[in-house]
Amino acid sequence: TIILAIESSCDETSASVIINGKIKSNIVATQEVHHKYGGVVPELASRAHQKNIVPVVDQALKEAEVQKSELSAIAFTKGPGLLGALLVGASFAKSMAAALNIPLIGVNHMQAHILAHFIDEPQPQFPFLCLTVSGGHTQLVMVRSHLDMEVIGETQDDAVGEAFDKTAKILGLPYPGGPLIDKYAQKGNPLAFEFPMVSTEGLSFSFSGIKTSFLYFFRKKVQENQNFVDENIEDICASVQHTLIKILMNKLRKAAAKHKVKNIGIAGGVSANSGLRKAVKEEGEKKGWDVFIPEFEYCTDNAAMIAITAHYKYLAGEFESLNVSPNPRMKFSGTR
Ligand code: ATP
Ligand code: MG
Ligand code: FE
Repeated sequence: TIILAIESSCDETSASVIINGKIKSNIVATQEVHHKYGGVVPELASRAHQKNIVPVVDQALKEAEVQKSELSAIAFTKGPGLLGALLVGASFAKSMAAALNIPLIGVNHMQAHILAHFIDEPQPQFPFLCLTVSGGHTQLVMVRSHLDMEVIGETQDDAVGEAFDKTAKILGLPYPGGPLIDKYAQKGNPLAFEFPMVSTEGLSFSFSGIKTSFLYFFRKKVQENQNFVDENIEDICASVQHTLIKILMNKLRKAAAKHKVKNIGIAGGVSANSGLRKAVKEEGEKKGWDVFIPEFEYCTDNAAMIAITAHYKYLAGEFESLNVSPNPRMKFSGTR
C-alpha cells in the first residue's frame, strides 16, 4: 500500500509518502510570511499553500521514489484548522484521487498528532493517555486504539501554545514565540518570578487568566524599569515556561491517577518543548509510567502524521466520497 498524504490546516504545507506503514518522505514548507504580522494571517496562509503544494508534493514523491501511478490512496487533513487553508489541501487531494481513480482518505489533524507515536519505535500499548498540546488545542485524550480516542479533558479558553505565543509577543519576540521561550528558558531560573495560578475544575485547563497575569506583571515591572524585559529575558522565559508546564503536569497527573493508566504520551507542537519533555520523563520515573515522546520532526505540523493515520484508516476501509468538504471545527466523533 502506498499513500500520499497532504497537510494544510494552518501555516505548514506538507506532503508525505508512506509505504506499508513506513514513512518514506516528509516534506514540510513552513510559511515565513506570517512572522512580521505576529501570527497566522488566514488569507496569506491559503495563498502560500496554493503556491507550495505542487512543489512540496513533487518533492515528497521524488524522495520516496514513487510515481503517481503507483499510489493506492490520497489522504488530506479534513480538519480542524483554517477553512481556506484546509480547502487547498482538500481540493488538491480530491482532484488527484479523481484523476488517478483511487480512494480518498480524510484525516482529523488532532488524531494525527497523537498517531505520530506510531511512526517509529517504541510505540505505546493501548489504552494510553495522551496530552495533546498545540497552537490551537490542549487536550487529555484516552486512546483505546488507533481509531478510537476520546477527549477526557480540554481547555475552556486558550490553548497552551497560544499562551506561549502571546506571552512571547508581549515580550517582543517574533511569531511563533514558543520555541524562543524554550531557548531562553534553558539559561534562566524557573523560580525567579512567581505568577498567581488559576485553578480549574476536574480535567479542564484554562490559560487566558495566566496570560493576563503575565501581562500585568510585565507592565508593572517595565514601569519600574524600562529595561526589565531585556535584562531578565532568560529568567522571565524560564519562569513563564515553568508555570505553564506546572499547569499541564497537574492535570496530566490527575488524569493518569483517575483513569489508572501508566502508558503516557505527549503530542502536538508544544510537545517539542524541552522543559515539558523533561517534566514528563521525570514524573514518569517517579510514578512508574511508560512515557512516549515523539521525535521533534513529528511534534509540530507535518504530513507524516497524516500519512500514518491514513494508513490505519486505509486498513479499516474508512474512505471519503469525492464531494467531501473540510470541517474547520472537526471533532473526534466525526473521524470514525
Ligand atoms: P493545532 O494542531 O491545534 O491545530 P497548530 O497546528 O497550529 O494547532 P502545532 O503546529 O501543532 O499547532 O504547534 C504549533 C505550536 O507549538 C505553536 O504555538 C508553537 O509556539 C508551539 N511550539 C513549537 N515548539 C515549541 C517549543 N519548543 N516550546 C514551546 N512551544 C512550542
Ligand atoms: Mg504552524
Ligand atoms: Fe497541529
